[in-house]
Amino acid sequence: MVHQWQCRECKFTVWSSKQSKVAGVVKSHLLSHYRHTVESDEFGIRWDCPYCDKTSQSYDADEGIAKFKDHLFKHVSSLIDSSVHVADRINRTGNILILSPLESTGANNARVHFTSPADIAVFVTNNPAERVRLLDNALQSWPAWTTILTTKAQPFADVTDIDLEAAPLDVAILDKGISITELGETLIRVLDEQQTSNSRLTVGFDILSALLRLFDTETAFKFVHVLNSRLANMDALTHYYLNPSAQPESEINVLKELFDLHIQAKGSRFTTL
Ligand SMILES: [Zn+2]
Ligand SMILES: [Zn+2]
Repeated sequence: MVHQWQCRECKFTVWSSKQSKVAGVVKSHLLSHYRHTVESDEFGIRWDCPYCDKTSQSYDADEGIAKFKDHLFKHVSSLIDSSVHVADRINRTGNILILSPLESTGANNARVHFTSPADIAVFVTNNPAERVRLLDNALQSWPAWTTILTTKAQPFADVTDIDLEAAPLDVAILDKGISITELGETLIRVLDEQQTSNSRLTVGFDILSALLRLFDTETAFKFVHVLNSRLANMDALTHYYLNPSAQPESEINVLKELFDLHIQAKGSRFTTL
């Protein structure tokens, strides 16, 4: 569960497990809306609050800005919601694009957040060892069942720190030459096999960059579009990971349209615009 604040002036939202992180982001965001009300000259700075009639003058510019941010924050701090899940925004099912380097604290925090409500978790990944380490370390308990889909031949060869025999875990090793259609079919079949009437399904999908590298954009986009609608029909919550600096911005902008929600994950905070 995380704390959430949604801007009333624009579509910006921030989530974090740490309330102090949310406060810091909110203050900077509010300043970006109201910076025009700050006037500065050789004697310092002066601001007028857009919400009330308070004005303030400071000789030190940094101190003045900090005061303004703190003051703005007081007007909106009651709008911070606690015990929220990011997926509440999409009624807990659908697909989310997480823009973050794949092996980063931000991406791992997102993986934990989106896996924690699940009974059945599936990961499609080229880094199976790190995914099982994360599940073992960061979750209070494993999902009832986890399946890893990977093309790694010996996915857990160097995992000696976890008792994988005891974990509710299955691995399906995919042929390196698997077609994009077969990949989709395998994923749906695994979910079908594990699903029971009330089980909550989540899918963590790491290989979007690989697909964009291997196939032309149109083929990769079509695959995501078809997969998303099939997973949505199963009421799954799917979290896709993509490093934004590894793709052209124009491609990312088009790709975003295929998802119900897209967020940036950095450290312990998630944001969306
Ligand atoms: Zn805003
Ligand atoms: Zn005010």
